[in-house]
Amino acid sequence: MHISTETTESGACQSVTQPSYKCAICQDSEFVIEQRPGKVTLSDGTVNEILQDVAVSCKCREKRRIERLLKSSQITDEFKKMTFGNFVTSDKPAVIQEMYAKAYRYVQEFGKEQGTHNSCCFLGQPGAGKTHLLAAVTNNLLARGIAVQYFPWVEGTDELKSDLEAAKDKIYQMQRVPVLFVDDLFKGRDKPTNWQTEMIFGIINYRYLNKLPMLVCSERTIAELCAFDEAAASRLVEMSRDYTVVIKRDITLNNRLPKEI
Ligand SMILES: [Zn+2]
Repeated sequence: MHISTETTESGACQSVTQPSYKCAICQDSEFVIEQRPGKVTLSDGTVNEILQDVAVSCKCREKRRIERLLKSSQITDEFKKMTFGNFVTSDKPAVIQEMYAKAYRYVQEFGKEQGTHNSCCFLGQPGAGKTHLLAAVTNNLLARGIAVQYFPWVEGTDELKSDLEAAKDKIYQMQRVPVLFVDDLFKGRDKPTNWQTEMIFGIINYRYLNKLPMLVCSERTIAELCAFDEAAASRLVEMSRDYTVVIKRDITLNNRLPKEI
């Protein structure tokens, strides 16, 4: 016998006049008023003990903060599905297993006295899972309440270029956000424009000097990155010294091509 799950009464008891809150306790203010013991001194010098109203964080506050981080990180639903659990390593060459292990270790070590060497950089062969693993890193960090901003190179640079006035604020933010994920650095054309190299150098250099971590993936090799902008690339290489993987060009590693499903 089958029981239909479609005949639930969800929605049936919603009142039209009552606003619905995500959190009924604080009505989405994220604060609740509690009464705490306090003291007041009267003009004659006597001290009375009283109960004072104190605003304290509601237990929903951390959850809301993480939701806001996720929203401002520009991360899509598709991106949220990329986890360590659904990354296939079995039957994959050692370099893919190494990339998985480094991404996983990066999450575990994140925030522990890494100093300048606090970044993660996966380079080389397209379709080998570089973005998937850095998305998995991002999702883990966001779940821990660490802000990560996602910057897909092609769409991101187009958007910046389309409004140079707004770009200043966005670049300022990309320099300072706790973690910046640059996906597909220098993709798109044979050679990045001067504007692009100057923009990314400004961001990498700021983050390098201020020991702010980056997650970077690119189809380019280290030599190619250096040929475009040695100053930016050498800083990136140093920042991600402990978590760099370069995958040599090998078309059989491209998961986007048919053959295996
Ligand atoms: Zn609440």
